[in-house]
Amino acid sequence: MTEAPAAKISRLLIQRGRKLFRGPSQNLESTGNANADRMVNDLDRQPHAFVIACIMSRQMRAERCWIIPYEFKHRVGTFDMKRLRRLSDAEVLDAFSRPTPLHRYNAEMARNFQFAIQLIAAKYRGDASRIWANEPSSAELVYRFLEFRGVGPKIATMAANILARQFKVPLRDYYSIDVSADVHVKRVFERLGLVGPNADVNQVIFRARSLSPEFPGLLDFPAWEIGRHWCRPRRSDCASCYMRKVCPTAASGSLDTGVVRMD
Ligand code: SF4
Repeated sequence: MTEAPAAKISRLLIQRGRKLFRGPSQNLESTGNANADRMVNDLDRQPHAFVIACIMSRQMRAERCWIIPYEFKHRVGTFDMKRLRRLSDAEVLDAFSRPTPLHRYNAEMARNFQFAIQLIAAKYRGDASRIWANEPSSAELVYRFLEFRGVGPKIATMAANILARQFKVPLRDYYSIDVSADVHVKRVFERLGLVGPNADVNQVIFRARSLSPEFPGLLDFPAWEIGRHWCRPRRSDCASCYMRKVCPTAASGSLDTGVVRMD
């Protein structure tokens, strides 16, 4: 029996997602600064840096969000939990503000930072790795991230997905890790015909749940990767994309040049 195009597309995405998921643990290289990257990857000695970086991941490019723990450390001279805990609101805001704002929503993010440090200190005895210790269920892990100020489902599932996929943190299941439907994931789902034009975030999330119910977030990185490398907003390099033979958008464009113009 011939496989339907949508089934082929989801099969390819799931295959790519599984390959990445089963591969070796990978460090995040998100800032362009090796020292800053080392800090957010150091789950053993400063796991709170990873948590803070996730909390900062709003409305700015990833490079700028993920470098904030490193920048903050250099401004106050420490990233030690005991000393961070003793910083006043004013000191945290000052570090966020000078010499330049660390975040687009600086005052708000300073409050989120302060809240996160206090929560890690009070609930996890100063050790953020307790958030994901002892093989929690995916729902429990996402819930724990949702308890942080300023964290909604998108950031909570992103954090859980990175822990599972990149750092190979063991979890009891993966049901509650959704795709983080950012612009790349949304665009790729649309162009692959997995959702209709102008689908909203919830449609993308529930489509991923229907395609990969045991681990919807498995589709996150493959879709993001296609969007980041080939399926750009205004032009798509379909000739280089492994979806080119099954993609309805590619089929409707000029594949002989390898480029489909979207504008
Ligand atoms: S084949 Fe082209 S349009 Fe389709 S997902 Fe890949 S880059 Fe995008």
